[in-house]
Amino acid sequence: MITIKNREQIEKMRKAGKLTAEAIEAVHKAIHPGVTTKELDAIAEDYIRSRGGAPSFKGYGGFPGSICASVNEEVVHGIPSDRKLQEGDIIGIDCGVLLDGWQGDSAATFAVGKISADAQNLIDITRQSFYEGLKMCHPGMRLGDIGHAVQSYAESHGCGVVRDLCGHGIGREMHEDPEVPNFGKPGHGLRLVKGLVIAVEPMINLGTWRVRTLNDGWTCVTADGSLSGHYEHTIAITDGEPELLTLL
Ligand code: MG
Ligand code: MG
Repeated sequence: MITIKNREQIEKMRKAGKLTAEAIEAVHKAIHPGVTTKELDAIAEDYIRSRGGAPSFKGYGGFPGSICASVNEEVVHGIPSDRKLQEGDIIGIDCGVLLDGWQGDSAATFAVGKISADAQNLIDITRQSFYEGLKMCHPGMRLGDIGHAVQSYAESHGCGVVRDLCGHGIGREMHEDPEVPNFGKPGHGLRLVKGLVIAVEPMINLGTWRVRTLNDGWTCVTADGSLSGHYEHTIAITDGEPELLTLL
């Protein structure tokens, strides 16, 4: 079901979103060679709980972490573990927060120490593909316009756009309708309206778009082993400019 939020509800979501952004920033500051993804997970959980929120991912479908920590060829849903980050890795941090009954959801991909030019390009292309999609986030535009904008930007830079997973509506629930694909046809799909709140989250691969899931049942990796990036914000559609709710 699609839910439309009023101004007061969007302001509550902005509080949940801010806490989400702060938790990701706390993790970002701790990313360095030698740290384990479990240590990063604890930083996020402590940060969120100490400010009265709850980590939405913990226990979601049985997921064990407060963040998804996805390293290198891992696309999304990496499980926090004793794996130590190494110089040259990239890591996607995805985090969700429930605060006062409302959800925030955001993700970004970070460098571990010095990384290759290819890896930095992927991070930059992934982030910019989100902002290309954001330009379409106005009433009257359609979901296909967002997907097309993300896809055409990423593919024009030689990257693959993951098809198997997509963005989503968000509100009192982490995942609400509609699904928000990162590919599509202009002028197709649901028409955006004021008060719709969606998480747009491109997952972009240096290689092909194809992915598979590891035997742990969670970790999604690129089928060809290429690096993958992830970038996400929670966005409120308004009469004016779209509002990013997951900002610091
Ligand atoms: Mg997310
Ligand atoms: Mg999401």
